[in-house]
Amino acid sequence: MLGQMQSQPLLISSLITHAERHHASGEIVSRRVEGDIHRTTWGQVARRSRQVANALDSLHLAFGERVATLAWNGYRHLELYFGVSGTGRVLHTLNPRLHPEQLAWIVNHADDRAICFDMSFLPLVQAVAGKCPGVKHWIALCDADKLPADSGLLGLISYEAWMSGQSERYVWPDMDENSASSMCYTSGTTGNPKAALYSHRSTILHAYSGALPDSLNLSARDCVLPVVPMFHVNAWGIPYSAAAVGCKLVFPGPAMDGKSIYELLEGEKVTMAAGVPTVWQMLLGHMQANQLRFSSMTRTVIGGSACPPAMIHAFNNQYGVAVLHAWGMTEMSPLGTVCTLKNAQLDLAPEDRTKVLLKQGRAVYGVDMKIVDESGNELPWDGKAYGDLLVRGPWIIASYFKGEGGDPLRYDADGKGWFPTGDVATIDADGFMQITDRSKDVIKSGGEWISSIDVENIAMAHPAVAMAACVGMKHPKWDERPIVVVMKKPGTEVSRDELLAFYEGKIAKWQIPDDVVFVDAIPLGATGKMQKMTLRQQLKDYVLPGV
Ligand code: ADP
Repeated sequence: MLGQMQSQPLLISSLITHAERHHASGEIVSRRVEGDIHRTTWGQVARRSRQVANALDSLHLAFGERVATLAWNGYRHLELYFGVSGTGRVLHTLNPRLHPEQLAWIVNHADDRAICFDMSFLPLVQAVAGKCPGVKHWIALCDADKLPADSGLLGLISYEAWMSGQSERYVWPDMDENSASSMCYTSGTTGNPKAALYSHRSTILHAYSGALPDSLNLSARDCVLPVVPMFHVNAWGIPYSAAAVGCKLVFPGPAMDGKSIYELLEGEKVTMAAGVPTVWQMLLGHMQANQLRFSSMTRTVIGGSACPPAMIHAFNNQYGVAVLHAWGMTEMSPLGTVCTLKNAQLDLAPEDRTKVLLKQGRAVYGVDMKIVDESGNELPWDGKAYGDLLVRGPWIIASYFKGEGGDPLRYDADGKGWFPTGDVATIDADGFMQITDRSKDVIKSGGEWISSIDVENIAMAHPAVAMAACVGMKHPKWDERPIVVVMKKPGTEVSRDELLAFYEGKIAKWQIPDDVVFVDAIPLGATGKMQKMTLRQQLKDYVLPGV
């Protein structure tokens, strides 16, 4: 017997329709490429996303065709989120921090038909345009009078000229909720990049789950600033969850430095922000240097790479801002776990509670996870046993776009397909997961594993260390030994021996790195994560002491 409830497809257009009907005056504030602050509302974004829809129809792009963006976080990007996907086309958010060669490869692989770009990316667009014959439409996200006369791009049009003359009326089409809605390429640290192709259904379910109290706890009373770029896994789904709850959104545009972010956080009374640790490092540096405080922030989501304990401590204890340590990946839309406490942890002594908050957290509803050994046997949830972390759920990838890289799923004895995350983790009895390492970053010393995250976290707790990366170096006897590569905070000093002494008593003796290498900068990838592959290349002539 079937249930007798209405069966409406879960579509992205329903999010913007809801936001317009119930939160029309809700504010959307953006710092623009031009440097000024722009103010609009959910109602206005809804009207303009329908104009975008009409403008797309006038280009005669077919259902499912890809429309790419090369843009910072801002209101026009938000309009495209709803306008493109709402019509059944696929929004492809390109990462502007990629090398032009790699970007051209991705544009061609995705068969992008149109590219909408912020004017700050014009040189990048000019560098790739000749290599991307499939792109038929170049749309600059600016007013008509800001369009350069001699861009060299065939048919270049300004976004405002393209869409603002269109009707604000548009009937969003009904479609299968499993239709593709947006896509995002992984950074391709191994081999060519691969794309996750999200669906309307996966996006809506992810938006629901992301807003839950033990996830990001979003409501209409919130003011949210995603520093995480809209080209990095859809800003972790925040634009969609925000439309569902009708919160105020603040977009930082290209200005990601500590001072600019702080100005927006305070000026707009932001209650929650989200970003990778490197961004918060800059913010905290600015605040400490200028003795600033937060007046409205209650929490901040930190994810994308492990959040150092020193950062959690600074936010929690110095600034009274709760850190929501979150873990996920492109293939997971991206939300997997968020670290929020249960009643049982509230009674813990402060130092034990901090230990829990360091973990990547509990699975959000919709994500199932397990850890397995090399033979695929499930390992216990005791907080000690570590193994490959596998996940499954309705917003987790089933296959890559164009079948790239084979079947990403691993099937267990019951025939259930699990996605191997490539992370190594423990899970404790309360369900808190902790990433030990990425499987390719784990250091194997004398048959035992050393967590590079543990080694980095200790270095980062030293007052003179701005950033630390732990990598394994070949060793004739132990196979690999860890070293720690350190970037110092400006104006501070620490010697190799002092830093190595700092490890004493904090981890087992054999896990203490063999050496410290001081560098001016640690290479960061397109999403602000440390690039260990590049770092290993830079250290190719390095020899361990005594070897
Ligand atoms: P890429 O693989 O392209 O860097 P993702 O942004 O999808 O792209 O990265 C996912 C990976 O980032 C995870 O598999 C994990 O290794 C790492 N990661 C994400 N969040 C965290 C976190 N909170 N702690 C530790 N590692 C994290």
